[in-house]
Amino acid sequence: NELKKHFPLKGGLLGSTTGYVYAVDGVSFSIAKGETLSLVGESGCGKSTVGKAILRLFDITSGQVVLDGKRIDDLSTTALRPMRRRVQVVFQDPFSSLNPRMKVRDILAEPIRNFGLAKDSKDLEARVAKLMDTVRLPRDAVNRWPHEFSGGQRQRIGIARALAAEPDLIVCDEAVSALDVSVKAQIVNLLQDLQQELGLALLFISHDLAIVEHMTHRVAVMYLGKIVEVAPKRSLFAAPKHPYTEALLSAVPVPMPGKQRERIILTGDVPSPINPPKGCRFHTRCPYAFDRCRVEEPKLAQVPTALVSGHVAACHLHDRPEAENPLAVAKGA
Ligand code: SF4
Ligand code: MG
Repeated sequence: NELKKHFPLKGGLLGSTTGYVYAVDGVSFSIAKGETLSLVGESGCGKSTVGKAILRLFDITSGQVVLDGKRIDDLSTTALRPMRRRVQVVFQDPFSSLNPRMKVRDILAEPIRNFGLAKDSKDLEARVAKLMDTVRLPRDAVNRWPHEFSGGQRQRIGIARALAAEPDLIVCDEAVSALDVSVKAQIVNLLQDLQQELGLALLFISHDLAIVEHMTHRVAVMYLGKIVEVAPKRSLFAAPKHPYTEALLSAVPVPMPGKQRERIILTGDVPSPINPPKGCRFHTRCPYAFDRCRVEEPKLAQVPTALVSGHVAACHLHDRPEAENPLAVAKGA
C-alpha cells in the first residue's frame, strides 16, 4: 500500500511557490500485532506525516492505509469511528497534549465514553482506575490536574488516555524525545511492558537511534519523504544497506570501547522536499553516488548481501559486484 500525502502550498506560507510537497511519497509498510516498527530520519523527512495519515487525521491524496486487510483511508467519518478507536496516538509534548482544564479522571473517561466502552458509570470508574494501575500511577491521582504532574507522569497519562480506547496500534510520535534521560528510559520500559502485556503494535516515530535500538523490532528509515531502508533491528544496526542509514548510525555513540563506527559526516544541505533531486533523492549528499544515481530512482528491494530476508533498501549499489559495493559487507559494530 503506497501512501502519498501532498500538501498544497498556500501563497505566503513558503514564499510564492505553488505546487505540492511530496511529504510522504510512496511510503509502504506493515506492522504486526505485538511488534514495534520504528520510523527514523531527520526532522522534516515526513515521519510525522506518515503517523498522521495512519491516524487519518487528514485525507490522503492517493495510496491506502490498511488495517486488518481493510482500507481505512476511503471510509466515511461514521464508518471510520470503530477504526479510530483501534489506532491511538501518544504525542511528543506531554505539556501541551493534555487539556489543562480537565482532571485526569475526565481525560481518561473521555475516550471511554466517546467509544461507548463502559457498561455504566461504575464500569467507567473501574476502567479509569485500571488504566492508572496499568501506567503505574496512584489511583487517587485521578483527582488532580495535569499541571500537578511531572513531564514523565504526564506522558504516563497520555499513554493511559491512548490505552483507554483499547487500541490495536499506538503511534508514538517522538513520545519520549522531550523527556529527561532517566525519565525517557522509564517511559520506554513502560511501553515495552505494555506491549507484552497487551499485544499492542507500536509505530515508534523518532530521530533518536539509541532509543530505537533499545526498543524496536524493525526499523524503517526515511529520507525526503521516501522510505530508503526497512530491516529487522539487528540486521540494520549490524550491517546497514543504505548509505543514509550508515551515516545516521555512525553518529550514534556506542558505549563499548573499540566498537564506535567511523563517523560519516554528510556534506551538502538537505534538499527541499518541494523539488527533490532527480534520480536517487540522496545523491546530492551520498558519499558513494555514481552516474546512475543522478538519473534513475532506486526501488526498495531485498538486499542480496543482507544478513536476513526482509532487509530491503533503495540503493543502486546492490546491483553492483560485491567488490564495488562498499555496503556489501558489515563494518563497524
Ligand atoms: Fe547513494 Fe546512489 Fe545508493 Fe542513492 S542510489 S544511496 S546516491 S549509492
Ligand atoms: Mg515530527
